[in-house]
Order: sequence, then C-alpha cells, then structure tokens
Amino acid sequence: MSGSSDAIVVGAGIVGAACAAALARDGWRVTVLERSFASAGTTSVGMGHVVAMDDSPEQLALTAYSARLWRELAPRLDARSELDVCGTLWVAEDDAQLDAVHAKRVVYAAAGIDAELLDAAELARAEPRLRAGLRGALRVPADSVVYPPGATLRLLEFARADGATLREGVEVLELLPNAVRCAGETIRADVVVNAAGTTAPSLTRGLPIVPRKGHLAITDRYPRFCRHQIVELGYLTSAHAMTNESVAFNIQPRATGQLLIGSSRELVGWDARINHDILRRMLERAASFMPALRDLSVIRCWTGFRPATTDKLPLIGRWEPVPGLWIAAGHEGLGITTSLATAALIADQLAGRATQIDATSYSPMRVLSAGTAA
Ligand SMILES: Cc1cc2nc3c(=O)[nH]c(=O)nc-3n(C[C@H](O)[C@H](O)[C@H](O)COP(=O)(O)OP(=O)(O)OC[C@H]3O[C@@H](n4cnc5c(N)ncnc54)[C@H](O)[C@@H]3O)c2cc1C
Repeated sequence: MSGSSDAIVVGAGIVGAACAAALARDGWRVTVLERSFASAGTTSVGMGHVVAMDDSPEQLALTAYSARLWRELAPRLDARSELDVCGTLWVAEDDAQLDAVHAKRVVYAAAGIDAELLDAAELARAEPRLRAGLRGALRVPADSVVYPPGATLRLLEFARADGATLREGVEVLELLPNAVRCAGETIRADVVVNAAGTTAPSLTRGLPIVPRKGHLAITDRYPRFCRHQIVELGYLTSAHAMTNESVAFNIQPRATGQLLIGSSRELVGWDARINHDILRRMLERAASFMPALRDLSVIRCWTGFRPATTDKLPLIGRWEPVPGLWIAAGHEGLGITTSLATAALIADQLAGRATQIDATSYSPMRVLSAGTAA
C-alpha cells in the first residue's frame, strides 16, 4: 500500500496526534476524528515526564527509542510544549534501593542511556530540599518534561502542515473493515488507527485496557524549588504491581515555576472523584521526601485514567480481525513518552520500512494468541 492512500486516526490525544503527524509526513491523506477536546482524554491530565523506564526490556527499548525521538523533535517544538531537559533523579532511601540503583545504571548503560550515580552528599547538593538521610540516586540527564496538551497541539500542527484534516465533534461509533461509522456517515479509508486511549476497547472489542486512576496536585509558583524530576525508586514497584491502590513520590518542576506532585494508582473503574485518603497519603509521601513541601500551597488537584494493559506494554500494530485496522493504545503511565515511538512503529510498518526496534512485543495480536480477548 502506498502513502497516497487515506488514513483515519480516531482520537486526538498525544498518541493519535503523533500518529497523524507521522502518517501525514509519509504522504497519507490523514483525517483525525476527535469527539471533543473539551472532554479530552488522559493527555490533558497527565504529567508529561519523558522518561526511560526499565520495568521490562521491551519497555526500556520503547521508552529509550521514543525519548531519542523527542530529542530529535525538540528544535521543532515551541514554547507551548514547555520542553525542559531537567533530567530524572531516581532516589534511594536505603541500602537495598541503593543496590537497585547500581543495577539500574548497568541496565541503562547496556541500553546506551547515560546515567550517573550520586552518593548521599552529591544528592544533597543536587537537590538541597530533599530530606537528609537518603542514600543516593541515579541521575538520568537526558530525561525531560513536556506540557502534554501543548505538545499535542504542536504535533497536530505538523500533521495539518502535511495535509491532514482535523475534525472535532465527530464521535466514532464503530470500526468497520476499512471504514469508520459515525453518527450520520460512514467514512472509508485504507487504514484506520484506533488511538482512542482508555476507551479504545469500546471500539475494538477484546483489547485488554482498563482505566487506572491517578491523582495529581499542582502548587502555586515556587521557581527553582527543585531542578529535576525526582522519583522515588519505589515508583517502579507502584507502577508495576496491579494492586488496587498505591502511592509513590514523584515531583516535577514546571516551566511556570509550579510543582506538579504525584502520583497514585487505583483500580476503581471510572470513578473520577478525588479520593481524599489517597490524595493525603500521596502528599504525605511527597513531604516525607521533601519536608519543605508542607509550607507550599497546593492550588488544584485532579484525577485521570491511565490506559493500562495487563502485561504492562502498549498495543501497537495491525489488528488482523478487522481489515485495515491498526491499534495505538494502552500506554498506561508512559503514553506521553512513547507517543512518538508508537507513531514511528506504525508508520514504518505501513510503509514497509524496517522498524528501529523490534515491533513484535507490542503487537496487539498477542492478545488473541494469548486467548485473553473478551
Ligand atoms: C496522573 C497521570 C500521570 C501521567 N504521567 C505521565 C508521565 O509523566 N509521562 C508519560 O509518558 N505519561 C504519563 N501519563 C500517561 C499518559 O498521559 C497517557 O498514557 C497518554 O496521555 C495516553 O494518550 P492517548 O492519546 O492514548 O489517549 P487520550 O489522551 O485519552 O486520547 C484519546 C482521545 O480519543 C478521543 N476519543 C475516544 N473515543 C473516541 C471516539 N469514539 N470517537 C472520537 N474520539 C474518541 C478522546 O476524546 C481523546 O481525546 C500519565 C497519566 C496520568 C493519568
């Protein structure tokens, strides 16, 4: 199939926007269908940490590849994207975590990711507001932060500059072979990409994606309170284990001077209400690492739903049961980071080019082979 054919992207979150930009650049006549920016999905409520993450070799390959694509894209982003290459500090509280930090550095080095060990004194110098007594940290200097809605708008601009059409207010009701059905019309296309985020399974039955709720809190402006995105090492455990609820310390300095504080994980269906108990625990956890946070004003708290898969990897690739249908969904807490790699994997496969990393592990067809489809 050539790149002069029609492609529909369902959903204009960051994953759909990245897919639209990549396909339009390849010459596809792209139409993006978005039901409502006003009630937009997870992209508008996430944290925007672009991070190399090593929960599994496949996750590390995807995040490292995508982080590289963000670095390549950086010169084309504008102020709305608020890109800040602040680096990540993975903080160790005790000796066991310090051992894990050492192991993490070895894994990152093998993947070509620059990372340096900080001892307790170096950590205190790097982030003086962290409490005394922490054992050390791993600094990953190339990790960055973006403002997800701003970066998404920029990606949609790239798509439009390459001829894409964005139609807002169009709710897709059904994905058909080489077509989508919306209220009052059916639109045909050679390729359809389901990038509907947490609601992707309502359009493609059997996708094992569930909403995983998270709380975030943002403070008033306190410029230079901290310099890095700082994450406790236990965050990995919190993200990995599909327990009913967990909290982990994660703080991000924003370009506005504000501090974005996370994070929590809960499996409570679509209940978007603030859970005051978990919010309190999350903020207490943060203050236990940075006591001076207790003196700052939090001006807003909110929740969002991560599109979580059971095996912790996103679903990226062709969905063979429906001709022409591709899936780009299920990115859990890494969809901002991995949006660009997702788009590149799909665009390369559609163009018949070799992919830069092995795409097999992310194929949604693993769901059918595992027999887990509903
Ligand atoms: C608290 C929290 C913190 C996070 N922090 C980070 C982080 O630091 N780094 C990171 O990489 N990721 C982070 N994430 C995860 C990240 O935000 C998501 O993985 C990502 O935004 C998913 O993007 P998406 O485009 O797949 O989905 P969405 O942003 O949900 O976009 C899907 C779009 O599809 C549209 N849509 C749905 N159904 C239809 C339909 N039938 N017809 C038309 N349109 C439709 C929706 O309106 C929506 O706009 C975080 C998430 C949360 C909740």
